[in-house]
Amino acid sequence: MGPDLASEYDDRVASRAAATGAAAAEGASTPPRSTTKDLEATERALSAWSLPSPEGQCGASCRCGPHQAKRADPTDPSPRTGHLSWDEYFMALAFLSAQRSKDPNKQVGACIVNRDQIILGIGYNGFPRGCDDHDLPWAKESESGNPLETKFPYVCHAEMNAILNSNHQNLRGARIYVTMFPCNECAKLIIQSGITEVIYYEAKITNVGPNSPSVGQKKQKDLMFRAAHTLCHMAGVKLTHFKSGRTVDVAIKF
Ligand code: ZN
Repeated sequence: MGPDLASEYDDRVASRAAATGAAAAEGASTPPRSTTKDLEATERALSAWSLPSPEGQCGASCRCGPHQAKRADPTDPSPRTGHLSWDEYFMALAFLSAQRSKDPNKQVGACIVNRDQIILGIGYNGFPRGCDDHDLPWAKESESGNPLETKFPYVCHAEMNAILNSNHQNLRGARIYVTMFPCNECAKLIIQSGITEVIYYEAKITNVGPNSPSVGQKKQKDLMFRAAHTLCHMAGVKLTHFKSGRTVDVAIKF
């Protein structure tokens, strides 16, 4: 959410150009930053990239859009099989959005969809608009014990960003896809916005109840997720654990 989009893009272009031997893009001579784990991982991935050849072939195993094998029989009228289901599609968009996050420890994405399968909002965890990612801390803990030196008082969760940045005034009856089960604060926003179903990928607690066992490690976080369960249950917001039933491999190559 910070204003470093251009410089981050330039860094990526510089890494990619160096990896492929191409001339560096104009204005991209600044060495890549490696201030966070995710950016380091991104740089490593970018350095391993290779551009497709002029013929557009990027490897025998490539299944990205332009390189998928065409149907042998051009007169076959049947639709393509193996396509993404709606649930897979929107959850994949939530995961893609999470890749925009600057959080070095947890990247979360969210995607809000209405009954007509139209996307109403999308978001990831980040600092508020206008708050620079380099001026606020991304740390989970403070050496001095000062909570203001951690990310927690400042970060906007993915669900909050998806709701507040929605392109539609009315989210009533919509569903939200999230890569991680929402916290209690996001549960409040979800309920108040009129969203009626949460489809989550990463579960946080099981067998919800006053004394239910937890998969979480930290008690305070457990309480957050328990409260979210309670709120959603009371408000009639359906909670659905995402299960694709198959391994979905979404390859994206530029
Ligand atoms: Zn939250």
